[in-house]
Amino acid sequence: MTAFVNPTLAAFVGQLSGELAFAQVQIRQEAEGFTLRHIEDAGAPGESLRAIGIEDLRLLVQTTVTDAFRPLKSAPNLRRGWRAHAADTVQLGIALDHLYPGAIADWFAAQARTPQVTHYREFTARQTGMYRITTLPDDYRAAQITRACCDRRFCLKQRLWTVPGLDTDVVADKSLIPCLEPCALMMEFVRKAVRLEKEGELSAAISPEEVRRLQEKLDRPVSSIREADFESAENPRRLLLLQQLARRD
Ligand code: SF4
Repeated sequence: MTAFVNPTLAAFVGQLSGELAFAQVQIRQEAEGFTLRHIEDAGAPGESLRAIGIEDLRLLVQTTVTDAFRPLKSAPNLRRGWRAHAADTVQLGIALDHLYPGAIADWFAAQARTPQVTHYREFTARQTGMYRITTLPDDYRAAQITRACCDRRFCLKQRLWTVPGLDTDVVADKSLIPCLEPCALMMEFVRKAVRLEKEGELSAAISPEEVRRLQEKLDRPVSSIREADFESAENPRRLLLLQQLARRD
């Protein structure tokens, strides 16, 4: 009996045309099934990579090479050194759902003439409880916070939602995986930015020397800081936000 293939997945496979880069994963169509590996291992001999099962991908994506938890699976810190084989389209769908949960459905949604995107103002207006304060930043500040949070060095999703005055991302800078609304990490980052603003941290003058120091820290992030730990002054998203403020980006 032929397995049922979700039409969304069938549409995705239909445009694969042999090989495709999907964020940090290279998908290659073979005579039988598909092979997947890290994009930076695209040219590596197959035998030099560890063969893993489709179900092993679920565990692989949980941590970085330094064993830090990956709260955002679209962060550009997927482990390298593996290869997986999907015997058919159904298995490919399972593999991609482990690697990038929900990405195929979002990709399909973004193919619509008018994709269903929830922009910052609409999204934050719906927030309740401790996230109500995410409505407070004006458009200029919300755009700065968004740029810092969704920067390519932190997330490979192509942001299709906007704040007035901020352009959307383009595939060439990010990936084929769209971001249709602000994520939980973004909401947490906005909360922290609002609190920093109230404490005067975002309005303090930053000297050229401090800007240089911020750049050095961004170039050499402290690997022990958890990605979602916005309490840490060394969190790279916080550092990037401060740098943008200093430059008036
Ligand atoms: S809101 Fe930004 S950080 Fe979150 S998934 Fe979308 S693009 Fe990535």
